[in-house]
Amino acid sequence: MRLLGIKTSRNGGPTVIEQVEQYVAAHREEYLARLMEFLRIPSVSTDPEGVRDTHRAAEWVRDLLGAAGLEAELVETPKHPVVIADSGPPAGDGPTLLLYGHYDVQPAGELDLWSSPPFEPEVRDGRIYARGSADDKGQLLTHLLALEAWRKVGADLPVRVKCLIEGEEEIGSVNLEPVVREHRQRLACDYIALSDTAKLDDDTPAITYGTKGLVYKEIRVYGPSADLHSGSFGGSVSNPGNVLADIVASLKDGDQRVTIPGFYDAVRSISPAEREQMAALPFDERAYLKSLGSPSLVGEAGFSVQQRRWCRPTLDVNGLFGGYMGAGAATIIPAWAGAKVSMRIVPDQDPKSISQAFDEAVRRAAGSDVRVEIDTLAAAGAYMCPIDSPGAQAAARAIEAGFGKAPVFVREGGTLPILPMFKEILGADSLMMGFALPNCNLHSPDEFLVLEDFHAGIRTAVHLPRMLAELQTEPKSAVGDTAR
Ligand SMILES: [Zn+2]
Repeated sequence: MRLLGIKTSRNGGPTVIEQVEQYVAAHREEYLARLMEFLRIPSVSTDPEGVRDTHRAAEWVRDLLGAAGLEAELVETPKHPVVIADSGPPAGDGPTLLLYGHYDVQPAGELDLWSSPPFEPEVRDGRIYARGSADDKGQLLTHLLALEAWRKVGADLPVRVKCLIEGEEEIGSVNLEPVVREHRQRLACDYIALSDTAKLDDDTPAITYGTKGLVYKEIRVYGPSADLHSGSFGGSVSNPGNVLADIVASLKDGDQRVTIPGFYDAVRSISPAEREQMAALPFDERAYLKSLGSPSLVGEAGFSVQQRRWCRPTLDVNGLFGGYMGAGAATIIPAWAGAKVSMRIVPDQDPKSISQAFDEAVRRAAGSDVRVEIDTLAAAGAYMCPIDSPGAQAAARAIEAGFGKAPVFVREGGTLPILPMFKEILGADSLMMGFALPNCNLHSPDEFLVLEDFHAGIRTAVHLPRMLAELQTEPKSAVGDTAR
């Protein structure tokens, strides 16, 4: 990918973008100090004791954005506030960018497992260690500091920039959707950018353009009203344990395909261009197998490991329980047995239809000799951003400018329910620009962010609004494919 030429100003001095770049290059020390200040606030959203700290973190973000020239305010929710900010209407009519991030963090967990205290950030070997360094304070701060840098050199942002920074990401974004619905006009935008994902590896930045959805079920099979003696009563009633095993076994066939009728009907196929692009990514199957410690790799017939992980829906038992689970033998026919089963779904599977089809298949497999209860514990859609959109291409160019290397486009097997929510309410696609390492210990002890990646992230964020302004007016590039 070619970088856009940086024009010199008329008088031969540095252009605006060069001035912003020089500004951020000159403030590395200060940026590190500011990151440490942000990380010292223990904004653990799940901790009822931490309400004052989460509020303090929200105010810290609001004040930074306010000082950077945006109109910024706290929107209170039943739990933790959301920061909404807006740089205001631009002179021209370019696109509007919405930056999303979260200021809350996971709990520290066991303190003994940390090499340095989780809320006393420490730099070791070019990495900053602290809870929230990667997820998400360090990554979020890159964007906020970039906005500030534009302001500091006295330049107008090349596009209108809005911010939506929440404090409940680590507890399921419970109050975010009502806030987005209520403020949909204020948050109206063309693209959403977030940095809360990872690079492909140490040297390769990545844009994540797709996530899987999740339908999570709990099945309970009930037989006799109490556990029965398996000798006295065996052979005369249906055994819920056996029936549960039959149900689970019936959900997949020998080719590891899900047998639920209609399950694959809406699955978007992998386009030839996406196939090619995925095959070109470095992936060592042997090293992968070794890292998992599994005897072999197994999955849906006809697809590569990466295709199965990123593009194909899956069904997995997450837990089986019921009957006698203690030591030794207890000869019973259990009164009941249960299973937790998750399905990771892909575009364009509908969580509701999949949920319903699952229930019907389970009831059919269970027959009429037992009673079955099925609970839906989660139902969220998949998300995919077309990678040939001007937004995705601008994000790629910004990363190339910031990291000195073009990013790869990757998908993700995990689920981010806010992305389909943004798409539905705001109609905008999300660009996931990850600056953390895949092994950055997020949610674990010794979470870290590589300092050079922090600074490269700031440079990227500086270029993003400019690339968006320039690419919006260019004809669509031939790079990538929407893979619809
Ligand atoms: Zn996060």
